[in-house]
Amino acid sequence: MSADLACLMKPAGGPQLEAMARRALALTRAHFGNTISLYAPLYLSNHCPGGCAYCGFASDRKQPRRHLNPEAIEAELDAIHALGFDEVLLLTGDRTVQAGYDYLLDGVARAAKRFHVVTVESFAMTEAEYRGLVEAGCTGVTLYQETYDPGVYERLHRWGPKRDYAFRREAPARALAAGMRTVGLGVLLGLADPAVEMMALDQHLDELEKRYWRGGLSVSFPRMRPQQGGFEPAFPVSDAFLAQLVFAFRICRPEVPLVLSTRESAAFRDGMAGVGISKMSAGSRTTVGGYRAPAETGGQFEVSDDRDVETFCAMLRAKGLEPVFKNGDRVFLALDEAGTRSVC
Ligand code: SF4
Repeated sequence: MSADLACLMKPAGGPQLEAMARRALALTRAHFGNTISLYAPLYLSNHCPGGCAYCGFASDRKQPRRHLNPEAIEAELDAIHALGFDEVLLLTGDRTVQAGYDYLLDGVARAAKRFHVVTVESFAMTEAEYRGLVEAGCTGVTLYQETYDPGVYERLHRWGPKRDYAFRREAPARALAAGMRTVGLGVLLGLADPAVEMMALDQHLDELEKRYWRGGLSVSFPRMRPQQGGFEPAFPVSDAFLAQLVFAFRICRPEVPLVLSTRESAAFRDGMAGVGISKMSAGSRTTVGGYRAPAETGGQFEVSDDRDVETFCAMLRAKGLEPVFKNGDRVFLALDEAGTRSVC
């Protein structure tokens, strides 16, 4: 499989890319029906002791710092729930006094009262900590290695707990060992050679599949966005090559959910929805408390697709795709697609 992936990531001309897109479309339709799963991110805190060179939340960036108090968390969760979502992704920076493990645990417990799917994108944890999150109602972890090149990793993670490459790389395995149902992996595209990075990510997936075959794995394709600090990627990834990476992964891993966030432009997301990509965020706010109030803080990065949920869903429907807000919806719609069951 790795040889196929390497081959599919070689520079491709227009006709070859079109053929890959057709194959990716057919495989996505076969495995996910005509559905796109939707989720919403909620930034709980932008405090961070970390010094990641590419991040707007790094501790040397001059911007107001804020974390949501329990009442504000409840209100933001209610605002997201009112938009129709049943899956929320809670995000924080690395551990701080204001927003450490217990703070995240409390946020998960509050979210689990409203949402069936509660996932976290936060600092790497111990197995015991992941187990605590599971017991509080957490269903999944998203944790990008950012780069699988240890040298680049060391240079860009200038200070802070995230500097420990090995502890971070093993974190998805610890999460699955602790009983987490899903784990999402990714590399921050632009930091190092993207084809080499995606091969390393593929190997990481292989390792996790062998050890935790029950775990649900997904892959995201975050690409560097402008952010406070003005970090410029050494390996910029074009739209065409990002699309090729998605197609290549879909062809080699037909059953794995592939995720695209609002980092990307509306036009690019419209083109990729259902063509490899099976899961997307929508109506995202990457500022702390951004769903109810105008931004008081800067975001981790600039959102490119700033359409509201309604507009985004209208686009999906115009393409013949059904936005799925709840896990159960996908089953019925996928079955309907196969002609074996009607949606009532
Ligand atoms: S990437 Fe995470 S750990 Fe690094 S500075 Fe940003 S919020 Fe902090």
